[in-house]
Amino acid sequence: MLTNDQLDKWDRESFFHPSTHLAQHARGESPNRIVTGGQGVFIEDRDGNKLLDAFAGLYCVNVGYGRTEIADAIAEQAKELAYYHAYVGHGTEASITLAHMVLERAPDHMSKVYFGLSGSDANETNIKLVWYYNNILNRPEKKKIISRWRGYHGSGLMTGSLTGLELFHKKFDLPLSQVIHTEAPYYFRRPDAAMSEEAFTAYCASELEQLIEREGPDTIAAFIGEPVLGTGGIVPPPKGYWEAIQRVLAKYDILLIADEVVTGFGRLGSMFGSDHYGMKPDLITIAKGLTSAYAPLSGTIVSDKMWKVLEQGTDENGPIGHGWTYSAHPIGAAAGVANLELIDKLGLVANAGMVGKYLNDQMRAAIGEHANVGDIRGEGMLCAVEFVKDRDARTFFEASEKVGAKLARALVERGVIGRAMPQGDILGFAPPLCLTKDEADRIVAVTADAVKATLG
Ligand code: PLP
Repeated sequence: MLTNDQLDKWDRESFFHPSTHLAQHARGESPNRIVTGGQGVFIEDRDGNKLLDAFAGLYCVNVGYGRTEIADAIAEQAKELAYYHAYVGHGTEASITLAHMVLERAPDHMSKVYFGLSGSDANETNIKLVWYYNNILNRPEKKKIISRWRGYHGSGLMTGSLTGLELFHKKFDLPLSQVIHTEAPYYFRRPDAAMSEEAFTAYCASELEQLIEREGPDTIAAFIGEPVLGTGGIVPPPKGYWEAIQRVLAKYDILLIADEVVTGFGRLGSMFGSDHYGMKPDLITIAKGLTSAYAPLSGTIVSDKMWKVLEQGTDENGPIGHGWTYSAHPIGAAAGVANLELIDKLGLVANAGMVGKYLNDQMRAAIGEHANVGDIRGEGMLCAVEFVKDRDARTFFEASEKVGAKLARALVERGVIGRAMPQGDILGFAPPLCLTKDEADRIVAVTADAVKATLG
């Protein structure tokens, strides 16, 4: 076995880490962690640390670590048939079963599932399908996509453009010109402190409508949004938001893409965020919770309305020119089937709702009155604490003070992994959906201690 020193050397010499300060890492100025194992909500590293992973990896290990049911399903599939493609009507029992299971759980008006590998490629698929749809309907000008500032939809060329976070645009010449951004539904950061939640919702809807009018409704194809903003700060929408937004979209015949990469398969305490908030999307993006990250797999769920036009398109033009070698990979599909069965068997959707509420309530009780806590918010098994310089004035710390990063470090030193969300001093929690109340108590106690040690 390699020594830790050898691994550290090779890591810094050879490994290009995503979303990492490359220069600091190469120079050995930033810590690395070599993760060796996981069980339940805990991971272990090579230095013998056992950490409560209150972010489920990247909010994806929804059933928790070490589930032999999924590992066995993967191994059996690999032994029986590691790979066959899904082009021109080919499939495997696993991929067909998983498509059926996804549709059983999805909102009623959805029709078919396309499988990819990552949330990013699934959103690329979505945009291509939207463009194809409007071309088949003879609306070649209707192509622009609206997303929200602080939305996160991936980091490819198109999906990085949809993402509304500066870090993902800076120096990459993004966003591409087909993408435009509108107001984030972020009540805590509303433009005017006196605005009620309802007034803020009306403001977001009005901003959207004005943007559509400015650009020309005939040029706007789709609106994409996460039911709850995730990476942009874990922000549940203000009251009535999705109703108001959908009214505007319907008025201008604009498609809705619900990006449920985080919210799909139970995180909000409902199987899908779309059902949770009364959304009727034309496309739904799924990934993370589809396999609980035991294997890479994503998907695009297509509505009846769009599917009919896609069929018309292939009758007119021949086979659809879209697909990856690894679309519907049998190993990912086998992991997905076993994962969805496990979610049902363990009642994890209900648990996410129940323990998630407990986590949010306990967090509020423990640190809600702290002078530097501006907002504690969440839905289901999602919780965020936003830190401010002055809670009455709603003023924020300077980015250079790195308060969020310091707090995340203080948490890890105390045995809990939370995430310092980009753009703001926000600690995010998105534990596995199997979290118990005792484990929630531990997250809260450690957070309170870390806040005290860091901010007094
Ligand atoms: N959409 C949402 C809402 C996400 O949170 C993410 C990743 O965090 C993505 C898309 C991109 O998924 P991936 O990182 O698998 O490409």
